[in-house]
This record gives sequence, structure tokens and C-alpha cells, in this order.
Amino acid sequence: MSEFPQVDTAVTAAVAAFGPYRETDPLTRAALLDAIADGIDGLGEDLAATVHRETNLPLARARSERDRTTNQLRMFARLLEGPDWNRPRIAIGDPGREPLPRPDLRLRHIPLGPVAVFGASNFPLAFSAAGGDTAAALAAGAPVVVKAHEAHPETSRLVGGVITEALHALGLPAGVFTLLFGPGRTLGQALVAHPGIKAVAFTGSRAAGLAIAATAAARPVPIPVYAEMSSVNPVFLLPGALADAPEDLARGFAASAVLGSGQFCTNPGLVFARNGSGLDEFVKTAAAAISETAAQPMLTDGIRAAYEAGRDRLGEIPGVELLARGTGEPAPALYRVDAATFLAEPALRDEVFGATSLIVTVEDEAETHRLLDVLEGQLTATIHTGQSDLDEAARLIPRLELLAGRIVHGGWPTGVEVGHATVHGGPFPATSDARSTSVGTLAIDRFLRPVAYQDLPADLLPKELRP
Ligand code: NAP
Repeated sequence: MSEFPQVDTAVTAAVAAFGPYRETDPLTRAALLDAIADGIDGLGEDLAATVHRETNLPLARARSERDRTTNQLRMFARLLEGPDWNRPRIAIGDPGREPLPRPDLRLRHIPLGPVAVFGASNFPLAFSAAGGDTAAALAAGAPVVVKAHEAHPETSRLVGGVITEALHALGLPAGVFTLLFGPGRTLGQALVAHPGIKAVAFTGSRAAGLAIAATAAARPVPIPVYAEMSSVNPVFLLPGALADAPEDLARGFAASAVLGSGQFCTNPGLVFARNGSGLDEFVKTAAAAISETAAQPMLTDGIRAAYEAGRDRLGEIPGVELLARGTGEPAPALYRVDAATFLAEPALRDEVFGATSLIVTVEDEAETHRLLDVLEGQLTATIHTGQSDLDEAARLIPRLELLAGRIVHGGWPTGVEVGHATVHGGPFPATSDARSTSVGTLAIDRFLRPVAYQDLPADLLPKELRP
């Protein structure tokens, strides 16, 4: 029992629902995900207006995020229509093998059990009540208890209502989905600690992600935590790319850096630019673009205060030069520093959640590799090359593989395509488990585990493993 009766009620219902829900035909779960997507579409402009009112995100962004959310629900539904979602494997036995017979081994994946999902402040739809974590867990056959983010309660309520209605319409247990409201530090912690919860999905700050992971690890029965936390998404501008089109690069970078007030986990916070031809033009054009950018409201007062403090702290570090500041508050900002200062000052590698970026000027390839040695794990690493850079890029990419979950060439890290080959993950602190992704259909794997069936008679095997 926790001190929160609503947590007990939700998890008890989820545990009771797990048995029947995991036995449902995958097509039933596909129908559930489709029904949730249809229901969200059915909320129409009410939903977009609610998102806009609660989060300050523009209406156009609310609508596009709604479409992303329904698309990812439907993508999981289509996944469930094929065999790939639980990846069966069959190794047929050989009773005549010498010196020992080979057993018949058949494997499939089953859901872990009830999953706790923490809604993200910066994706009130796509990573909240019916977001990617919920969609992946429901697809896997796992009930979900969502700890709603306090920044968008009405949005969560509207979407949660759609999920409850869809469950009811399909005759599925209500305990498959519950939405909880309350403080993360107390109610959220009680949810993570509850013995009925078998996995946690989280998107937010490093401090909260680590606190949740610590609680999960300290339980009598520890559970996996998939926390997506902190990333500065380094961009590497190789010399040929800078020489070829410095102004285009600068405009592309600035647009990515200020998108959505920089409130994306894939915001390009760091740019490693090579000293030489094109650098001055790049810096000048990027600075001009940032200084012309007006401040946009941020998601919450707390996030705004943290942003302004982080931005201003960065500017106070010796050796850091302010290149540009946008108009109004919370103003975007662009700073510059040399590689030696960056190597010597760990605070320069911290995420500033918002539209602040740091250009690091780099002398040569060897210095780039020294800089890579000090970087923490990232969600993305971006590389821009010219024709003359290909050999250097080929040496850089194996380093970037060890650094990040997604390597982008010639583009910008913001704007995550949700698909079957998407990876939105990466080494710590980008996530707490680099083996996983929280976006795309592979995200289902976080809530599944393999079970092998050895020499079971056909009638006792799960249907999909029968001869
Ligand atoms: P947050 O403070 O990490 O909160 C996220 C969720 O975790 C909220 O529901 C929160 O509940 C809960 N929580 C907070 N501390 C907890 C704890 N000790 N134990 C259990 N649950 C806890 O993130 P935020 O409010 O969205 O934004 C704050 C900062 O997080 C931002 O300024 C930014 O630095 C970072 N952030 C990063 C990303 C990313 O994608 N990397 C996304 C969003 C935010 P309460 O609301 O009750 O505190």
C-alpha cells in the first residue's frame, strides 16, 4: 500500500487487467489503438485550442503534434497486424542429432506487465497521455498508468477520456489505462515504487529521471526505467561544408536552434565549427538570424526561469563570448568559445533547455576527436560535409556511433521522423538505457521480454509458434 490511494487503485486495476489484456488478439489491440487515434481526431479544434491555452504552443504546432500522435498510434496498430511485433523465432528440434538430441526451441516476446508513463511537458500530445510510450505499451499488451504532467492537465484529461471510451467500446477492462494527477516527487515516486508496476517510461529532466531510476533500482524487485533526459545534440561542420555554403548552413542552424523556443530534446545546443574559410560568414549570418528572432513564450514559468538562468550562467563563464541575443524575454542567445576553453570547462557541456546554442571553434581533426572524448551521450549527432571532407567524415562516424543514437547528415536534429527505423535514444544521459528507443515502432521492445518454449507439444504452444 502506498500513501496515495489513487495509486493503489490504479495499479491494482492495471494488475487485474493485465491477464485478460495480454491474452487479447493483437488485432484487438490494433483496433484499440485505431479507436484512440480516431477519438483524438474527433476532439478536433477543441483539443488544439486546449493545448495552445495550457502550453503556449502555437495552434499550428498543436495540430501537427496531434497528427503525429494519431499517426504513431496507427503505426503501432499496423505493426500488430503482422508477426514482427513479438518477433517469434523457431529452432526446430532434431531428436537424431549426435551425440545429443537437439531440443525444439520456440521463442516469442510477452509483455512485462503494467507500465508507469510520465507525460512530458514539451510534447503534451505526442509524449503524454496517449503518446509514444503509452502507444508502445498498449501495443505490447501492457496496461498503462500515466502520471500526467501538471503543465497540461486539461489536455491530458481530454485524451485520457478518449482512451477510456475506446476501452469501453471494445469491451476491454477499464484498468488497462488510468490517468493520475499529483506531484512527481511524492505521487510519482509512489507509482514507481508500487510492486505492481513492471517498467517506467519517462521524458524530462536529468534530475527527475535519475530520481525515478534510483527508486526503481532500490525496490525489493527492481524494474527497468526508460528515461529520456538530457542531450545537447552536437553539430559538426567540417571544413569543406563551411567553405561551400556558410550562409545556408547558418540559416539552417538558426532555424533549428530557435524552433519551438528551443524546447526540443533534439535542439542543436552545440556546434563544432572548423577555423578557416567560411567560419566568419557562418558566425555572422547565424548571429544576425538569432538577433532578429523575437522571444516566444515557453511551456511553463519554471522552464522559462531555468532557461534564463542557464543561458545567463553560460555567458558568465570566462572565455565565452556572446555573439547574439534575440529580442524580448526569454530571448534566444548564441555564444562562442574556443576548443581549449570548452575542454577545460565541464559546465559548457550542460543542456540549456531552450533556444541557446554555443559555437565551439576547432583547429583541426585531431582537436575534434579530443572534444569528442569529453562529450556525454547524446540523442543525435549531426555532420555537414563538403566533397573534400569525405575521408574525415568516414573517420568521424565510428566515433559518433559511440556518442549518439541517431546520426544526421546534411540536415538538423530537430524534427524526428516517426518510423520503423527511428532511434530516439542514446547513451547516458540522453537516456537511462542506450539499448532502446522511445520513438518509432522499435519502442515496443522496451515493454516486452523473450520467453522460450522447449519441446512443448503443439497444443500447448502459443498459437503463433505452432507448427
Ligand atoms: P521534470 O521536472 O523532469 O518533470 C517531468 C515529470 O517528472 C513531471 O511529471 C514531474 O512531476 C515529475 N518529477 C519531477 N521530479 C520528480 C521526482 N523526483 N520523482 C518522480 N517524478 C518527478 O521536467 P519538466 O517539468 O518537463 O521540465 C523541467 C526541465 O526538464 C526543463 O527545464 C528541461 O531542462 C528538462 N526537460 C528535458 C526534456 C528532454 O526532452 N530532454 C523535456 C522536457 C524537460 P511534477 O510536475 O509534479 O514536478
